[in-house]
Amino acid sequence: MAATPKKKAAAKKERRPKRKVCTFCAEKLPPINYKDVSRLRKFISERGKIFPRRISGNCARHQRDLTTSVKQARIIAFLPFVSE
Ligand SMILES: [Zn+2]
Repeated sequence: MAATPKKKAAAKKERRPKRKVCTFCAEKLPPINYKDVSRLRKFISERGKIFPRRISGNCARHQRDLTTSVKQARIIAFLPFVSE
């Protein structure tokens, strides 16, 4: 008796992450500025890395603005390149 190969739907769990909304679009804030360190800090990890878009939930334009601002802030030592 041949075992009928039953295809198991491997843990059929649908992953539907909550749609993230770009905070900058939602709040209609003025353009991101490198001097706004407190805001930029929310988008960098403990180690000083910039969160990717899939985590931060920013739209393409704002993520781009954010990364440039973070990089500018790093150069003038408002933010660390690496911490720890
Ligand atoms: Zn946006």
